[in-house]
Amino acid sequence: MNTVYTFVRSPNHVYPDHPERPARLDILEPRLKSCDAELIETKPATPVEIGYVHNPKLIATLEKVCREEAPGIIDYAPTYVTNTSFDDALLAAGGVITCGRVVMNGDARNAFAIVRPPGHHAEPDRAMGFCLFNNVAIAARDALANGLERVAIIDYDAHHGNGTQAAFLNDERVAFLSTHQWGIYPGTGWIDDAPHAKKRIVNVPLPAGAGDRVYEQVAQEIFVPFVQSFKPQMIFISVGFDAHWNDPITTLGLSTAGYLMLARKVVRLAEEHCDGRIVFVLEGGYDPKNVANGGEAVFIAVTGKGESEASDPNPHKEPDCESRIQEIRKWHGF
Ligand SMILES: [Zn+2]
Repeated sequence: MNTVYTFVRSPNHVYPDHPERPARLDILEPRLKSCDAELIETKPATPVEIGYVHNPKLIATLEKVCREEAPGIIDYAPTYVTNTSFDDALLAAGGVITCGRVVMNGDARNAFAIVRPPGHHAEPDRAMGFCLFNNVAIAARDALANGLERVAIIDYDAHHGNGTQAAFLNDERVAFLSTHQWGIYPGTGWIDDAPHAKKRIVNVPLPAGAGDRVYEQVAQEIFVPFVQSFKPQMIFISVGFDAHWNDPITTLGLSTAGYLMLARKVVRLAEEHCDGRIVFVLEGGYDPKNVANGGEAVFIAVTGKGESEASDPNPHKEPDCESRIQEIRKWHGF
């Protein structure tokens, strides 16, 4: 079976000097032709689908602000909106829903939703952190609405997926795991954020500099038991390339080789536990070269074809995270 992808560039969702810009995708876009995957059409998410996660009041306010008051800044992150942002956000969410459905229906083996604006910071009642609607959370709820009973989301963007955590804090059908740099935006995501949901809501806060070696250990010692214990029928990945060591807005330490290792690990987990059903969803990543190399690594992992030509090892020393990883395992009983 094949790999499919959606591509929502949102060229008019752009703001002067803002890092979350269409140009993030400029190097990746021409390389997509050589990936062994099929581009599929997407359509905007409907208000009902957005409402799977978001409060109707937020949807109405956001539409009004975009259509009548934009361009402007709506929070301190800063998150911006333009006149097209509401429609761009509907199309981004639609791009993830489409990928989820084709994989769930068996029309494709797996998928990659390359969309912007990103989504994982958007909470049910609040757009924030460069995110308007929570694309991955909406698609996970759509999968549940269409018959699945258990969906897992693994988020290895550099930032905590606070919006996704908020959406599923009390929804036992969805398990959520986030790795992120501790001490940066949005400030949430400590180990004990959700004491009522051990094993199901899993936070892996990491110190600055954590890179390929640390992430490989996290994948082995935390991703594996997380998936084994929840037994999802499908896995969504919130993939952000801002954990790359030279991302301009964070200070983690992954290289492209590390991103490829992570993508292969989660693809393997999907093969072992849910017939290979996995959908990658783009979140952050603010250096276009990292987004291109990391995006290519996702395609290599999901298609099982090709090798990465990028060579960008992290020149810095990684911190020792052994005690942190063991503390997290102990908290969850992994
Ligand atoms: Zn991020």
